[in-house]
Amino acid sequence: MCCKLLGLLDASKVGQWCPHCLKSSGCGIYDSRPEVCRTFNCVWLTDAEFGDEWQPTRSKIVICHVRYGETRNLVFHVDPGWPLSWRKEPYYSQLKQFARNGLEHNGITTVNVGKRVFVVLPNKDVDLGICNVDDQISIKEIWDGANRDLDVYKVPRQGPGG
Ligand code: SF4
Repeated sequence: MCCKLLGLLDASKVGQWCPHCLKSSGCGIYDSRPEVCRTFNCVWLTDAEFGDEWQPTRSKIVICHVRYGETRNLVFHVDPGWPLSWRKEPYYSQLKQFARNGLEHNGITTVNVGKRVFVVLPNKDVDLGICNVDDQISIKEIWDGANRDLDVYKVPRQGPGG
């Protein structure tokens, strides 16, 4: 699933099978596969917090940690062929819990369906639309005089001219 959902070799092809992937036997260039493929570790394999239900071929979701400075974001890459899988149980309530835990450490929880990014917050999900791989996400607390809430912004990458 990581060979389809992550765009490891070409970020513009996220959500499409890598041309080297043979559906019957896996990577067709396994012995000479690029470094990015050798070093990638699916969070489901490395973090015991995620149970069997998160096995990617079962969940249709591949989980990654992405660091931005001091923060560690949790990114759930969802198969575009199953775009609503993350909203079903047993996944959705766990996503909300990850979002709560992450915010306590300035971490952001996102669901990426192809290039479309949703930010998961404890009380709502924010659809940021199509994002570039190096767009950044900012969350700010807002206060309307009666209630506190969180507002989410996409911070587009700078062009060559800054
Ligand atoms: S080169 Fe092989 S391991 Fe890397 S993304 Fe393609 S199929 Fe997967």
